[in-house]
Amino acid sequence: MSSRANSILQHSNTPLLLFSDYHTHPQGHRVQRYTRELLQPWADSARRLGLKDVAFTDHDRYHAGIDFDEINRLRERNPDLQIRAGIELDNDPVHSPAGRKWIEKNWDKLDFVLGSVHFLERADQMFDSVPDGAAQFEGRNIDAIYADYFRRLGELVATGLVDSLAHLDLIKIHGHRPAADIGMLVSETLKFVRARNLAIELSTAGWRKPVNELYPSDSIIELAMKNGIPFTTASDAHSHVQLGENFASLAHKIAEIGIRQVCIFETHKRTEVPLQL
Ligand SMILES: [Zn+2]
Ligand SMILES: [Zn+2]
Repeated sequence: MSSRANSILQHSNTPLLLFSDYHTHPQGHRVQRYTRELLQPWADSARRLGLKDVAFTDHDRYHAGIDFDEINRLRERNPDLQIRAGIELDNDPVHSPAGRKWIEKNWDKLDFVLGSVHFLERADQMFDSVPDGAAQFEGRNIDAIYADYFRRLGELVATGLVDSLAHLDLIKIHGHRPAADIGMLVSETLKFVRARNLAIELSTAGWRKPVNELYPSDSIIELAMKNGIPFTTASDAHSHVQLGENFASLAHKIAEIGIRQVCIFETHKRTEVPLQL
């Protein structure tokens, strides 16, 4: 631990208060039209957890379920919360071309676009499927897979359609580690993220996956900080009961590593907000 992080811990026994969750999937894993019944439980969960700012980021392949009028009605019923209209755009070779077109068409209605890579060489299976996706790593050169993953992430950034990158080192999900230094593998991506002025997320989802580690790893977070890249906080909840999952642990991690602010988005405009003790 750095001396700076140490002094933060010594001066506070209370964790930082996290107030925002910028990665949620109201539709889960299928198209479900946005309705009051689908969305209100997310607002109720947010309020119960003390979250003030939540972004809905369903997968782009389920864009047919998203209803901006229904999000507006949710905002009207819950004026104490900031509810952001968002989407998670990935590199699905079958569906994401249509997803990109939908994002371009609805850009002004969206507050926030997350970018992610879920597909490697197989078009029919996300590599992060648990446990089946692990087979895509069997007998392969792990460093080459990492390099390929970060190359694809760069392609996604280059679309110009994303505000923040989701689970930056998702490629570690099944526990495969590269022989090369991760800093070497990720440095070009981080420079590109900085050059495009994007944020990256701190995602607790990694703690419920086989790798059992925050996305991204501490060393990547430190490199991102050195590059001046801002962060969002995220659970990747696929149910309202997962909203803000493990945020107490995330708050401790953030304090320990010395992050003092997180960012929020409104119509793609980013604001950095200091964290309170
Ligand atoms: Zn994802
Ligand atoms: Zn997600």
